[in-house]
Amino acid sequence: MRLRNVKGSIQTIETSEFTINKPELNKGKWHEVFGNDHPIHIEVGMGKGRFITDLALLHPEINYIGIEKFSSVLVRAVQKRNELDISNLFFIRMDAENLGNVFENSEIDKIYLNFSDPWPKDRHAKRRLTSKEFFLRYDNILIPDGVVEFKTDNTLLFDFTLEQIPLAGWEISEYTYDLHNSPMNDGNVMTEYEEKFSSKGNPIHKLVTYRDK
Ligand code: SAM
Repeated sequence: MRLRNVKGSIQTIETSEFTINKPELNKGKWHEVFGNDHPIHIEVGMGKGRFITDLALLHPEINYIGIEKFSSVLVRAVQKRNELDISNLFFIRMDAENLGNVFENSEIDKIYLNFSDPWPKDRHAKRRLTSKEFFLRYDNILIPDGVVEFKTDNTLLFDFTLEQIPLAGWEISEYTYDLHNSPMNDGNVMTEYEEKFSSKGNPIHKLVTYRDK
């Protein structure tokens, strides 16, 4: 993603009622933040937040947390969030490497990864959000039968992920290399990158994975 410095973004985020500035303080207490015991779903690397915002509008019975590393994109999600009258969506600016400092074991019901950065160099493989190192982090915070859903148009990253999943001790429940022409597309909510790349003719890949118990 091309990142531009967006003037005032850090201040907008820090003063927003929808951004949690010290998320570690809520570890184990996220249901209190939402004020209910609904399931909590997170998107890691949400960018400008179109996908998770649309999900929050569609599913008031689910709590959503969008996680993004860069304020210059997160600020767009916050600006859009300000216009909505919903109570089931918060954002965190953080690096997903630190998920374990922010969420207790089994605190999260589902994780979405959409169009994660490919980090094409081998030496950066551990930074890919679908590396086995990241699956260990997801393992710690997900409920026992929680799932990770991953979409991308990047075939190399998708194939890498299909290899990493068994190495991490997870199982693949379903996958497709052509989501938009597959039964897995039922109820699909498009992400910003999905719209951009599918409109160029790129097929979208998707998989769903769970723990091998
Ligand atoms: N998910 C959105 C979509 O599908 O439209 C955005 C995709 S964009 C290519 C990937 C996003 O993941 C970027 O905004 C990037 O800053 C974020 N990201 C990458 N690594 C991350 C990490 N370790 N922690 C948090 N966010 C991360």
